[in-house]
Amino acid sequence: MYFDKRKYKGSCPHCEVVIEYHVIIFPVENDDGEMVCTCGACGEEISIPCLNPEESHIISGANKDYVIDYSYEAPSYLTEIDAMFEYNGDIFKNAPSYNSNTISLYSCETCDDNLELIAHQEIDKKFNEFASAINNYTIIDIKGYGFLPEKILVAINFKCSCGTEHKALFYKDYNHCGFASDDFLLANITNTQDLNDKIDGTLTKSDSLEILKKIIVRWELVFDRTYLIFPYVGYYKSPADKTLKLWKEILSQSHSPKLSIVTKTQTLNSFKKAVTTEYLDYKILERFDFTPKAITSAIKNTNSHAKIYCGVSEDYVESISGSANIAQGPSAEQLTFKRYYSYSDFHRRYLAPFNLKEIPEDLFPLKSTHDCHVLFDEDNNFEFKKLYKKQLFKLLD
Ligand SMILES: [Zn+2]
Ligand SMILES: [Zn+2]
Ligand SMILES: [Zn+2]
Repeated sequence: MYFDKRKYKGSCPHCEVVIEYHVIIFPVENDDGEMVCTCGACGEEISIPCLNPEESHIISGANKDYVIDYSYEAPSYLTEIDAMFEYNGDIFKNAPSYNSNTISLYSCETCDDNLELIAHQEIDKKFNEFASAINNYTIIDIKGYGFLPEKILVAINFKCSCGTEHKALFYKDYNHCGFASDDFLLANITNTQDLNDKIDGTLTKSDSLEILKKIIVRWELVFDRTYLIFPYVGYYKSPADKTLKLWKEILSQSHSPKLSIVTKTQTLNSFKKAVTTEYLDYKILERFDFTPKAITSAIKNTNSHAKIYCGVSEDYVESISGSANIAQGPSAEQLTFKRYYSYSDFHRRYLAPFNLKEIPEDLFPLKSTHDCHVLFDEDNNFEFKKLYKKQLFKLLD
């Protein structure tokens, strides 16, 4: 039967332990009632008022003992669960996004075409072709013959108006959920102006931020780790909603623990203050584990004014540095893109001087259960192919 599921977190009124539960909602008829539960921590009996108590269920923190349906039973009058939140994934994150109509990361070497825009139009156009190939692979995967890919990669060929051939590389996390062409993120386009040339000069704060949002999406696929090193977000007296919006724009770009934010304690505090102003006491959200991992695991770097953004792997590093903080506005900032072919060389120059034990000289790639992606390349009629992560660089130029 079709139903909707709402996710909640609350706390035990006796001992404050966090209790997570799902409420099932039917399209037409819903019973009002309560789940009578025993707290897993203190053993007290508590009441969780909800719709459809029979079908709704506890995820963690308590045991469901029995249900009361208010249409023919009286309420239990037990102490009710405290501070219930409905949540849907991470409340500080959206899907990664960028605007292909603004300053682009990838330009043709010879013509002025907006290649990002064309690449997105091409993936829309060819969606049905590769989507059926992805579905074919998923059937194999569900039967247990897949190879546990981390991401789906889609490589699309197209020509720009000057006739140059380009290959755009898109990705999304691999799972068995439905998908649309908008879920695929752009990681690279070949035969473009070198990023060394493209990102080198003076530009507005807003354009700098757009460049960073796009490059974080690229680095999420290409590198083992991404470090965003900046002293400030927004301006000194930015209103809470503006500060939060900026944080959200950055935090949304990466959905993995690959991304590390390195910033001043006061800048992290300004995020917490903005959350408290806009939503709810940050400490309460912390207790319910609603705070973004990138913030709770941020690296504090108090004695620094440097702005360095980098994607790093053992043998390859891309970095953008200059004057740009995370901010919007028309005023001028300077940014320069550089490549390094040794992490230890890059670390010695750029990271070691901060003296942070969280950024050691040895790069430990994050533990992953996946050593490969599944590639659907137009050159290969979008038939699936296993691509080891270390082979990825072949697709970049
Ligand atoms: Zn309790
Ligand atoms: Zn559930
Ligand atoms: Zn061209």
